Amino acid sequence: MITCKNVQVIYQNNGTALDDICFSLKGPTITGVIGPNGAGKSTLLKAILAITPHTGEISINGQPAKKQLKQIAYVEQKSAVDFTFPITVKECVSLGTYPEVGLFKTLKRKNWADVELALRTVRMEEFANRQISELSGGQFQRVLLARCLVQKADYIFLDEPFVGIDAISEQIIMETLRRLKNAGKTILIVHHDLSKVREYFDQLIILNKRLVASGRTNHVFQKEALVRAYGENIFVDEVNKNDRKLY
Ligand code: ADP
Ligand code: MG
Repeated sequence: MITCKNVQVIYQNNGTALDDICFSLKGPTITGVIGPNGAGKSTLLKAILAITPHTGEISINGQPAKKQLKQIAYVEQKSAVDFTFPITVKECVSLGTYPEVGLFKTLKRKNWADVELALRTVRMEEFANRQISELSGGQFQRVLLARCLVQKADYIFLDEPFVGIDAISEQIIMETLRRLKNAGKTILIVHHDLSKVREYFDQLIILNKRLVASGRTNHVFQKEALVRAYGENIFVDEVNKNDRKLY
């Protein structure tokens, strides 16, 4: 369980990114974090991960979150990942073992077996020896998920994993996440395509610097909350774009 109490993040020179965020999230779940650009979605993940300083309390299973970081596997927003780093797919996935094995230590046979299994899970086993710079965006995102799998963390945080990727990769990632949820994991995904929200997420955290709503998707994915997060124009824009009703 993740609990946030009165969480506030203030960036120097850039003001308040998150204010008075309170929620508790009980897994297993696939929870979406939604809200407009600049709403503080990435900042929320980084606050939980202790990458960004915050005030207020964040706990995981009743312990301060910063003492539970090994329990969280994280894929940051794509723009921030170095795609050109010269390593192979299987080396990249093996980096997920470092909380257990230690960085630059030799992996044991068992760890390599985990790497292979993770690559099979995301259907990337054929690419094990390929350089990561030679992958498509969707293939790379699957490799990053495989890296999370070998970490064997109870919590998986993905920041906009579907941006700019192919439909097959998106499907494989969602299938994998559903299986992980069924195995008891708590998954938090920053996401911005509202048309997929009902299909993908059982719970939602809706942000716009403050918490607009949190809870079961059926309860909180409603017009009033969406207008509070995105403004009135959301319905004109999104409904026209997707040619269907959102809620
Ligand atoms: P989202 O992911 O919802 O688009 P972010 O969490 O990235 O939003 O950013 C929230 C706000 O905080 C934005 O105004 C952004 O410009 C600002 N911000 C994000 N990271 C930093 C940083 N490292 N330093 C200063 N301001 C930042
Ligand atoms: Mg972001």
